[in-house]
Amino acid sequence: APVSSHSRHIRPTLLVSRLYQPSNLRDVGQDTRLQGEMTCKSQRLMQQAGLIHPSNPGCYYYLPTAVRSMEKLVRVIDQEMQGIGGQKLDMPSLCSAVLWKTSERWDLMGKELFRLKDRHGVDYCLGPTHEEAVTTLVAHQVNLSYRQLPLLLYQITRKFRDEPKPKFGLLRGREFYMKDMYSFDVSEEAAYQTYESVCQAYTRLFTRLGLHCVQVQADTGNIGGKLSHEFQLPADIGEDRLLICENCSFSANVETIASDRNDCPQCETGTLVESKGIEVGHTFYLGKKYSHVFSATFSSAQNKPSIAEMGCYGLGVTRILAAAIEVMSTEEGIRWPGLLAPYQVCILSPKKGSKVDEATVIAEDLVHTLGETLPQLRGEVVLDDRAQMTIGKRLKDASILGYPYVIVVGQSALEEIPRFEVICQQTGETVFLNKDGLLDLL
Ligand code: ATP
Ligand code: MG
Ligand code: MG
Ligand code: MG
Repeated sequence: APVSSHSRHIRPTLLVSRLYQPSNLRDVGQDTRLQGEMTCKSQRLMQQAGLIHPSNPGCYYYLPTAVRSMEKLVRVIDQEMQGIGGQKLDMPSLCSAVLWKTSERWDLMGKELFRLKDRHGVDYCLGPTHEEAVTTLVAHQVNLSYRQLPLLLYQITRKFRDEPKPKFGLLRGREFYMKDMYSFDVSEEAAYQTYESVCQAYTRLFTRLGLHCVQVQADTGNIGGKLSHEFQLPADIGEDRLLICENCSFSANVETIASDRNDCPQCETGTLVESKGIEVGHTFYLGKKYSHVFSATFSSAQNKPSIAEMGCYGLGVTRILAAAIEVMSTEEGIRWPGLLAPYQVCILSPKKGSKVDEATVIAEDLVHTLGETLPQLRGEVVLDDRAQMTIGKRLKDASILGYPYVIVVGQSALEEIPRFEVICQQTGETVFLNKDGLLDLL
């Protein structure tokens, strides 16, 4: 067998034996950290694979493998938001009650708002959303000119909501990541255009992730405003009920439909079919609701102070991660949108003491070859070097974690032209390939 010069230099973070991904699935029903919480497939699989670890109701540790996926998701979201002119910022989570009293949401939010006092007895809340904060920020800018609009500001930060019933793991937490964007425009017409471009960016995002998502008319809730859509992933455990016309493009959250009639209000001939969805995104056209209250103005072309037209647009970042797992996975293992898989490839070295022990070096070499030959795989290939475990046991783990490609280095790797067993977990296919074939496939 060829001797590798690199074999002993695989980064510990690319060795499965060293990765911190503790499987922490106890019997979920008996787990006191989850007492009273309902669980679901994505939560079970994420705990089993060591992606998340429950801390207290509605709060989770996001473990290193989950953070990798999250960072990938954030990158795709950044691309789409910046593609339509979004500028990323970061606002305080500790929010002054004064702002929330000004918008009257201090009372409206009721028990969902996490409230606290500082040492001087001054009221604060932990931000559940940031209309007040961002509008105040923009209002502080003197000389904001119409030439600088539309202005689109967004952040990806933790949000806090004291949900009455946190459940389903990351799908409904009390502390979670949201992407929230806010737009400021010169006119109602311009604001509608911005609204439209954000909806298109959301659609592109879900298409890139390979997630089937429906855009439905939605209620504006206590965020307020005139026009609103939700982006819903159809799923049985979804908590929203959707009505979709089988004849035309009409689709709506039942909350928006006064009588539960089942004839379509748009085409009047089609029947509305009910299904369930997970709300992964929400867009609102706000008008002047917040800009008026906080005096967010710009100077117009006529050099007159004018109140900005606003929109706000949320994406549930941690919810998207869990929802994707929920809709794509089997009961036995996670299946990822390709872009979000924490690692693309897992290579299995032979079991220690087996006839093909010497193939270990070939497996180690392959980690380097793949990363060096295919730039997109740099840092994306891990070696399952837990040589004391059987291949079968390690394959099972690999199936739970859902690497898109699993490569078994065994007997056939020692042939004159080495061949590798490649399991494509997205399709379930298994093929035997030589090195060139492997590089072509990946
Ligand atoms: P829901 O109806 O599920 O309670 P919401 O309508 O209250 O959500 P929004 O205020 O519209 O939520 O927030 C924007 C996005 O943030 C939602 O579309 C969702 O994807 C995400 N989100 C809201 N609440 C949670 C939560 N408790 N855990 C995880 N993600 C959430
Ligand atoms: Mg809610
Ligand atoms: Mg909702
Ligand atoms: Mg919503």
